[in-house]
Amino acid sequence: MAKKKEDVCSFCGRSRSEVNYLISGLDALICENCIGQAFRIINEDKETGDQSAAEKAIQLLKPAEISAYLDQYVIGQAEAKKVLSVAVYNHFKRVLAKKSNEVELEKSNILIVGETGTGKTLLAKTLARMLQVPFCIADATVLTEAGYVGEDVESVLTRLLQSANYDVAAAERGIIYIDEMDKISRKSDNPSITRDVSGEGVQQALLKILEGTVSNVPPQGGRKHPDQKMIQINTENILFICGGAFDGIEKMIARRLQTQAIGFKTSELPTKGEDNNMLQFVSAADLRSYGLIPEIIGRLPVICHLDPLDKATLKRILVEPKNALIKQYIHLMSLENIELSFEDEVIDAIVDTAFELKLGARGLRSICEALMMDYMYNAPSSSDLKVITITAEDAKKKMELVRLKNFQAA
Ligand code: ADP
Repeated sequence: MAKKKEDVCSFCGRSRSEVNYLISGLDALICENCIGQAFRIINEDKETGDQSAAEKAIQLLKPAEISAYLDQYVIGQAEAKKVLSVAVYNHFKRVLAKKSNEVELEKSNILIVGETGTGKTLLAKTLARMLQVPFCIADATVLTEAGYVGEDVESVLTRLLQSANYDVAAAERGIIYIDEMDKISRKSDNPSITRDVSGEGVQQALLKILEGTVSNVPPQGGRKHPDQKMIQINTENILFICGGAFDGIEKMIARRLQTQAIGFKTSELPTKGEDNNMLQFVSAADLRSYGLIPEIIGRLPVICHLDPLDKATLKRILVEPKNALIKQYIHLMSLENIELSFEDEVIDAIVDTAFELKLGARGLRSICEALMMDYMYNAPSSSDLKVITITAEDAKKKMELVRLKNFQAA
């Protein structure tokens, strides 16, 4: 009779007598040594894998490279691009730096001051796209102090979590853009008997998450209630970019500059000329006069301004960026096998109309839509149409219509 073969580990070949444990699977056996080794391999792989994924997500581009990337999508605003790229670079340096006991790098949240439609959201959005981190836009006007009608400040974090597909680790490295920051300014300097729940109350509530705290976030948003399951998010490494138009802050800047300049020659005073944007002198003191509380200004150490868009910039916005409007229409028509082109004067006519009507860069789109509507309506049905050229003549007629419509609305 043949001797029964002794059980051996299918991985290392050790026999049952050589090991303490030999665990059997369907048609294989494994000993404790091999289990230990497999466990170590998996752990090591996980660690290096996680690290490289995180590092990949946060590509540490140099400030100049970040700014060059922004150039592809955002026209002008050189100063803001410079400030933002340095701030973002430092922020991620800080995130990636090993915690040392000697120097602790502090967070550098950003405040962008600039007229509406000059590219605040676009800058924040482009940054997030480049860094491949979760990004969300929140509106400060819907927030209220906890317990009042409106959204809790934590809802901002819920939105970030949703955009990260509930991956908490990714969300904790994300970017949140808080728009309309100027609308939560303190309503008046006098302490009043009624609480300022959508102004100063929100600023107070924002302090903690801006600085870095572990916040309990309701995963589906909405109000917190006691039985709800909460997700904890650490906001320490979340970069907050706040933006606002701060209408009328120019006057406060001018007043401050006037007072400071007493004793100097008036010729040294900065004045608001053709290309002299008063916002470039914006400082913490002006924001304080505007109604932001000192604590919140302290947590937004990087302040930058955006320039208003002049005609030349509007023209560049229309044709230059990677996804410029004109490029979009040409692409749209090429999908119908139609070659679309514009006479030079057409571009100028669009820009002039947007500028005159003070529609800013946002207005460019509605003007282009009005201009292109007939072509977009007819082109798909006429199969022999291969070339369309938008002429100055046609543009002139359509611009007249746009002007009339907007005058009515005004
Ligand atoms: P806001 O400053 O109000 O946040 P946005 O960033 O939302 O303004 O800008 C509105 C639109 O105008 C953008 O989607 C973009 O198409 C266009 N735009 C504004 N400023 C610029 C700019 N500097 N370069 C390119 N496009 C711009």
